Amino acid sequence: MFDVMLRKVYIGIATVAVLAALAPAPASARMQSVEISNKVCQTTGGGKIVRIPGFPGEKIDRRLLQDIKFLRRKYKIFITDGYSTDPVHSANGEHPRGLALDIVPNFAAGGSWKDIDKLAEWAEPRQNHPRSPFRWVGYNGDSGHGSGHHLHLSYSHSGAAFGKTAKTIYSVKCPKRAGGDGDGEPNRDDGDGGDQSGGGIGTGGGGAGDGDGGSGGGISPRTIDSFQLAPVQPESAGING
Ligand SMILES: [Zn+2]
Repeated sequence: MFDVMLRKVYIGIATVAVLAALAPAPASARMQSVEISNKVCQTTGGGKIVRIPGFPGEKIDRRLLQDIKFLRRKYKIFITDGYSTDPVHSANGEHPRGLALDIVPNFAAGGSWKDIDKLAEWAEPRQNHPRSPFRWVGYNGDSGHGSGHHLHLSYSHSGAAFGKTAKTIYSVKCPKRAGGDGDGEPNRDDGDGGDQSGGGIGTGGGGAGDGDGGSGGGISPRTIDSFQLAPVQPESAGING
């Protein structure tokens, strides 16, 4: 009799343990963003390869969608490639991790190479010294890249396996927290004007946004280097990055 009761208690405990293990992680554990300085956001968790609205056939880590929106509006970019495991891209680079963009002007929207020149200069003020959060910028001076060809932007991130998303990534804009899991990204193209809010981490600084003032904009690489980053992987000559 006593023995039977004990067994019931054990079964009860086991049931509770199983239920606890099945409980979903809280949403906050999925994606956490911190604005670590002006125009550098660190996001941990929440990586997922999704379609890029407005660029059929192209995909990217969803945590860069706000950046794409920003770059599209400000520099009239057109994206020719994002996430890709194609061997034309460097295997250790950011295309196979959904953290690189190949960019040309969006001529249809009135864009020109001048816009892309400006973006490249902002992202990489000095050759091989990209501004954070960019990890490697391919443009003038880099084989297979440049004005009239294409601009490559790679984002900084923690180590990630080929074809997988990185746990921690850095972006200009903080990503929007997706509602459920079903990538709550809107499919409409430009509709919302609330771009500057930086995805919920309301900052006063957002307003200064478009100034790009060179001074003070430089973020010490140390800010990011204190985190574990994968080594920089330029797309070398001969690789059509
Ligand atoms: Zn590229």
